[in-house]
Formats: sequence, C-alpha cells, structure tokens
Amino acid sequence: MIIEVRTCHQCQSKHIVRNGKNVSGQQRYKCKDCGVTRVLDSVQKGRQLDMEQVSQTYQERNSFRSTARIFGVSHTSVQRWLKKKPEV
Ligand SMILES: [Zn+2]
Repeated sequence: MIIEVRTCHQCQSKHIVRNGKNVSGQQRYKCKDCGVTRVLDSVQKGRQLDMEQVSQTYQERNSFRSTARIFGVSHTSVQRWLKKKPEV
C-alpha cells in the first residue's frame, strides 16, 4: 500500500489541505502551518531535484524544453529555476 505523504515545500509540515485548483486544473494545496499555497507535484515528480543536475543538463542540451522533458517538469519551471540560480 502506498501512502502519499505531502509535505510543505516551505516548512516541511505535513498539515497540507486541498485548496481548489489552478487555471490548468492542477490540485492546489495549502499548508496549515505556514499558509503557503501552491500546486504540489505528484509523488514521483515531487522528488527533490538536484539543481546542479538540472543546470548541467541545460548547459549540455541547451534547451529549456529538453531539460524539462528529462526531469519531467514544465519548461517554465526550468526557466524559473535557472533564473533564480546565480550564474556559474
Ligand atoms: Zn508550510
């Protein structure tokens, strides 16, 4: 039996409640402890991504979309992450 454990990205709290859906129909969740509202990825996608790996892949492949495909995330997420990351 698989027990889904969702945790808050912000405070690691497990007090997560459903909070409607976003424009693309993904379930949104709200953390009862810190009040953060966000769409949580599925358990599989929710694994901790290694940002070093993402940025290395991006540099090798030179495309947001192919990097996104490899890590199973949207290319906008990759763009956002790489923007946040200081230049190496
Ligand atoms: Zn929280």
